[in-house]
Amino acid sequence: MVLRKIGRDNGIYKYGGSVRHWTFVCCDGLPYVICKKLQEEAVMCTEDNCNEKFLSKTKFIIHAQEKHPNKEYCECVHEFDWFYLRIGAGHYEMNLIKSFFELNWIPFLEPLCERIGFLSDAAKQYAKACKDLHKSWNLLLIFHLASLRELVLPYVRHSLKNGSNPDAKQFFEFNNQLYQSNASPNFNYMMDQVCRFSQAIINFRMSIRRNNSDLLKSSKFMTKELFHGRQHPKYQEIEINDTLQDLLMPCAVQNLNDAYSSITTTENKSTGQDFDFILEEKNRQLKSWIPKGIPTDSIWQTVCRNNLILEKIKHNSLSLFAIQTEKGKSKPMHLEDSIHNYRCLLRSTNYLNKSGDHISITNVALDEGLVKYIEQSTTKRNHYIKTHILKEDLESSVFIRNPVPLTPTERKIL
Ligand SMILES: [Zn+2]
Repeated sequence: MVLRKIGRDNGIYKYGGSVRHWTFVCCDGLPYVICKKLQEEAVMCTEDNCNEKFLSKTKFIIHAQEKHPNKEYCECVHEFDWFYLRIGAGHYEMNLIKSFFELNWIPFLEPLCERIGFLSDAAKQYAKACKDLHKSWNLLLIFHLASLRELVLPYVRHSLKNGSNPDAKQFFEFNNQLYQSNASPNFNYMMDQVCRFSQAIINFRMSIRRNNSDLLKSSKFMTKELFHGRQHPKYQEIEINDTLQDLLMPCAVQNLNDAYSSITTTENKSTGQDFDFILEEKNRQLKSWIPKGIPTDSIWQTVCRNNLILEKIKHNSLSLFAIQTEKGKSKPMHLEDSIHNYRCLLRSTNYLNKSGDHISITNVALDEGLVKYIEQSTTKRNHYIKTHILKEDLESSVFIRNPVPLTPTERKIL
C-alpha cells in the first residue's frame, strides 16, 4: 500500500516511526478521491493492542465479533488520520481550463479556434479536449485578452467623450450598469466568463508561479462554479473537500500549508509549481538520460542512482562552453495577431451589442438559462453540500441531476 509506505518513509508515529505525527500528501484527481475514501473508511482495531487494519468498517465489525467476542463494544481508530490531502495545483488548473473550454466551446471558443487554424474535426476535438496544456493556455489567453479589450471599449469611449481618465473601478461600475439593464444577454454572459472565470484561471496560474496563497484562495473561490455547473464529479468533490479542509484546519497548519502553495526548482522566483508538476518535471528529466526504446531495470537503476552526477556534468559543461539554457526563463508568446484576429470577429458580428436572445458568435441559439450560469451552478453546489456533507435526505430534481444545458437541443435530450 502506497500510503503505508509514505507513512513509514516519513517516520510517522503510527507506523513505528519517531520523526513526525502527521504530514501533507499531495496528489492529482483520481488518487485524491481514493485517498479521501480511505481516510473516511479505513480503520485500525485498538482492542488489546490488536492493531489489525481494515479497509472498511463492515470488515472491522466482523473481525470484532470473531476475535474479541467477550467485548460488548470494540474500539477502533481511523488508520489514515495522519495526513492532510493536497490537490496538485497543476492538475487543478488543467481541469479548470478543461471545464472552461467544455462550457464555452459552442458560445465562443469553436469560432475562435477556427479563426486561428484549427479547421478539421480532429484538430477541433484536440483543442476542445485540451490535450496540450501549453496550447490550451495560449488559446485561453487569446480569448481572454481579446474579449476583455472589447468589453473595455465602450467604457473607454465613454471616458474619452467626457474627458475623464479611465480606471478599473469605474469600468466595473459602468459595465455593471449595462449588465443590470440586461440589454444584451451576449454581453452579460461574456462579462461573467471573462471578468470572473478566465481572469480567475489566469490568477490561479500567477498565484502558483509566485507562491501567493491569498491569490490562490481567491482564484479557487472565483472558479468553483466551473466544476459544479456541468459534469465534473471528481473535481466537484475535490473542490468542496479542499475548501472545507482549508477552513477547518488549525491556524498553525494553515500557515504552513500557505507558505508552500508552490515551490520553485530554479533561481527565478516567478517559476513556482506545485508538487504534482515538480514530480512530472523530475520524471521527464530522469527519462532524458534514458536511451531510446524500452528501458531495462538495470538502465533505470543506473540512471536514477547517477542522476545527480549526470545533471552536475551537464550543468558544468554548459557553463564551460557558455551555452544559455532555457530553464527558468520565460519566452515571448507572439499572441497579438491572433488576439487582433478574434477582436475583428467580435466587432464585425457586433456580437456584444446584439439584443434579443442569447446566441453564440456563429448564431447558434443558446439555452435561455445559460446566461444565469453562475446562479444555477451555485444552486447545484449548495445541493451537493447539503446531501453529501450535511447528509440531508433531499430529493434531487431533474435540474440537479443534469448539467446546466448549453443549447435548447441539449435541454430536450436531458
Ligand atoms: Zn482486533
